[in-house]
Amino acid sequence: MATDYDAPRRDEVDLGEDSLEELKARRTDAQSGAVDVDEAEVAESFELPGADLADEELTVKVLPMQQDEFRCARCFLVHHRSQLAFERNGDLICRECA
Ligand SMILES: [Zn+2]
Repeated sequence: MATDYDAPRRDEVDLGEDSLEELKARRTDAQSGAVDVDEAEVAESFELPGADLADEELTVKVLPMQQDEFRCARCFLVHHRSQLAFERNGDLICRECA
């Protein structure tokens, strides 16, 4: 009885492992080929120093300075419009620097 039960179990397990391994191998081959191309393309785009600088510049430019704010020409800090002391030659000076 024991061998009768073991035999079909082994067959099922073996078949399952074989099929799974085959599927995994096929999937790995297919994925590895696609992933290699994607990673190479992504790595090239990320490794470009210009891309990093562009991102940083974009980040700086995106920093919001509201319309009711100004950048002091002396301390280079962004103050609220209410802190504007005076404007000289287009340079805005805050009260702290005035
Ligand atoms: Zn200032």
